[in-house]
Amino acid sequence: MTDILDTLPSFEPGWVWLCGAGPGDPGLLTLHAYHALRSCDHLVYDALVDERCLDLVNPEASREYAGKRGGKPSALQADISARLVELARAGKRVLRLKGGDPFVFGRGGEEALALVEHDVPFRVIPGISAGLGGLAYAGIPLTHRQVNTAVTFITGHSMAGDVPDDIDWQALVKSAPVLVFYMGMKHLPEIVEQLRRAGRPDSEPVALVCNATLPSMQVLETSLSACVEDVAAAGLEPPAIIVVGDVVRLRAGLDWQGALDGRRLVANPLG
Ligand code: SAH
Repeated sequence: MTDILDTLPSFEPGWVWLCGAGPGDPGLLTLHAYHALRSCDHLVYDALVDERCLDLVNPEASREYAGKRGGKPSALQADISARLVELARAGKRVLRLKGGDPFVFGRGGEEALALVEHDVPFRVIPGISAGLGGLAYAGIPLTHRQVNTAVTFITGHSMAGDVPDDIDWQALVKSAPVLVFYMGMKHLPEIVEQLRRAGRPDSEPVALVCNATLPSMQVLETSLSACVEDVAAAGLEPPAIIVVGDVVRLRAGLDWQGALDGRRLVANPLG
């Protein structure tokens, strides 16, 4: 019988593989990501990659942390890109591992373009983004037939560290039935205020999923008007995905993790 790992592309020296590690649970790594971990000889990883994923790396490989070190974000990003180029030019098989998916609020595109600029060959390995996998672990579907026909992913944090100022809140509130915020914890009060001011009802369901897919995962179900207070009372900390919309109500029926701990699920959460 052929081992599927033997059929995957071979990791050649001088290449950079830009790879998503998923939201945390190592079981959510793709086969490509696993194969890359086993065959790289230099790993450059970010803050949100779980230790258990890192532990799968080829024991001979060097590991290099490229998370936040308090420098200017833009300078740091340029440093990381330059480092990837340098390692590839030294003939390494460079695995650039990022949390979730590298092309979802992960600056993977910027790093890949730097590789293009320097003629470094690369491959992109998608990962399960926290907004997808994290919500699935919380028992919240991103779409549900009677509820929404669209879902919108938003960053709550701009390059400058503020709530992005190019968001058209009126348009969002009107056209986006389900909103999924990444990096939204720091500016939660402002995000909530913008949504309410633009017309989303106080009673609209909101859920926060912290440390999604990890053993320390915490889920808070609340409403738009109560969420800032509830988050503070629960002492929730980032990383968190924030989801606003009626799909949150389905959790009463779909919280499969809660069911493992004895929660009784209801078959008709929409009533
Ligand atoms: N590329 C990543 C996102 C990076 S931005 C992806 O596709 O998932 C970092 C943000 O992602 C965090 O602020 C948080 O909003 C979210 N995030 C990443 N991992 C998470 C996790 N395990 N639980 C909850 N949120 C997470």
